[in-house]
Amino acid sequence: MSKVIICANQKGGVAKTTTTINVGIGLARLGKKVLIIDNDPQGSLTEALGYQQPDELDVTLSNIMEWVLNEDDFDLDAGILHHQEEVDLLPANIELAGVETSLIGIMSSETVLKDYIEMIGDRYDYIVTDCSPNLGQLTLNALVAADEIIIPVQPAYLPIKGLQQLLKTISRVKRKMNPKLHVMGILLTMVDYRTNYANDIIDVVYNAYAKDIHIFENVIPMSVRAAEMPAAGVSIYTHDGKGKVAKAYEQLVEEVVSHE
Ligand code: ADP
Ligand code: MG
Repeated sequence: MSKVIICANQKGGVAKTTTTINVGIGLARLGKKVLIIDNDPQGSLTEALGYQQPDELDVTLSNIMEWVLNEDDFDLDAGILHHQEEVDLLPANIELAGVETSLIGIMSSETVLKDYIEMIGDRYDYIVTDCSPNLGQLTLNALVAADEIIIPVQPAYLPIKGLQQLLKTISRVKRKMNPKLHVMGILLTMVDYRTNYANDIIDVVYNAYAKDIHIFENVIPMSVRAAEMPAAGVSIYTHDGKGKVAKAYEQLVEEVVSHE
């Protein structure tokens, strides 16, 4: 069975989508079979992998979730796209927002993604899943399906404040719904050491969390080249392979693989 890694943080703009792409493609570059799932109705991961018009895609995660929920039969290849960098992609678009609303109050609605992953799990070594910037039904589905969580955090004041709430949700899901759920680590992203406060906030994160949670020593630096990535439709390894962000994500992927 595949290992399921999700990138989660209810704060937007902390590099969840960027990390999902570069972890997924980084694993594929090591020869792993990888599926990347866009689990955000904004479809920004789908767009960043070159599908500029997610709303025009015939089958996306929203269809799959509806089929699983209704226990319909469907072709397991449905919706799966293949990206040039040797990963499969299950895309998303705004229709997923409607599905998320329809999940509320339905029995077992938090296991839909897990049920799907169990159907396709033997096809992949890793399934890397993005999350939307909230702790709603879709993120809950991802937490229930996950083995490992990477928590991207930008060292700035506001993102740090939300961490406590996320960790509480994780521990509740772990107790009630998914005992194997494990935080692989907090990943500091978009780190800009030129700002005075970056180091101060990194210290705050270490002091508050390092005793309970792994903090990846390897941080992801801020770089204009990384910010260009979504428009290029490729990973950082293809867009700026020699740059510092590609190196940082490569090291992160080494660490992910070392957990095998
Ligand atoms: P999230 O999914 O958490 O909302 P994104 O991955 O979309 O975050 O990143 C937010 C923005 O920051 C995007 O415009 C992205 O291109 C940019 N970004 C991500 N990582 C970096 C980085 N290391 N350096 C500079 N910009 C980055
Ligand atoms: Mg995102």
